[in-house]
Amino acid sequence: MENIQNKVVVITGASSGIGEAAAKLLAQKGAKVVLAARREDRLFAIVNDIKQSGGEAVSFRADVVSSEDMENLVAFTLSHYGRIDVWVNNAGVMPSSRLSELRVAEWDQMIDVNIKGVLYGIAAVLPIMREQQAGHIISLSSTSGYQVSPTSAVYAATKFAVRAISEGLRLEESASSRIRSTVIAPGLTKTELFDTITSPEVQMIANQISEMGISPTSIARAIAFAINEPDDTLISEIMVRPTAL
Ligand code: NDP
Repeated sequence: MENIQNKVVVITGASSGIGEAAAKLLAQKGAKVVLAARREDRLFAIVNDIKQSGGEAVSFRADVVSSEDMENLVAFTLSHYGRIDVWVNNAGVMPSSRLSELRVAEWDQMIDVNIKGVLYGIAAVLPIMREQQAGHIISLSSTSGYQVSPTSAVYAATKFAVRAISEGLRLEESASSRIRSTVIAPGLTKTELFDTITSPEVQMIANQISEMGISPTSIARAIAFAINEPDDTLISEIMVRPTAL
């Protein structure tokens, strides 16, 4: 039997792209999925799709920038399913630009969603997983979490930070509480992430390369693989990118 079956999996940013694909794939493999994001109408439609295919899922409106929303998401999941086996810190934004453009509000947004969002997720769920003496926290970094390019300084900084936080979590929790910590690092993937770009220069680059992106289902398969390994086996990092890039 797959080690995904019957696991309770919470996914932030599940209203589109990689989060949506992961929710659908994991539900298909027998997980009970809690989809969180801000756009409730999108969440309702995805939950409906999952249920129509025979899967189990519920949704909850939550903004990862609010630690209160993250605590409410945990409370909702516990009241519904009684435990949390896997938490996927997937929500993210990428309004990339050159530093000299001084898009300070967008720097703040990336730091808030991509770093603080991950930390607030961990803060909300870690006490529960420690109590359970088991759990798995999966966080979405990026190939930009390993390499910086012009226009990606702040986004890359947030994704380097995701790796640092996940590695710290692994070092602190794996031995004593058996909590697994995994980093998933996608390369270019066809999603709505590029819609958050406002810099004309970066929009032009994104338009040129976006067609080369892989399907979000390819990233979902990597997430499913990490979850499905036996509980004594930790997949600490997976990078998945287009063959051509
Ligand atoms: P999408 O834009 O399709 O999905 C992003 C999701 O994050 C949406 O569901 C959005 O939902 C949610 N989100 C954004 N802000 C918030 C917030 N404040 N609170 C809660 N949810 C929020 O992009 P992807 O699927 O591509 O992105 C998923 C992750 O993968 C991100 O962390 C991204 O950085 C990473 N990634 C993506 C790559 C790519 O090429 N696509 C490459 C490398 C990494 P809503 O607006 O409804 O709240």
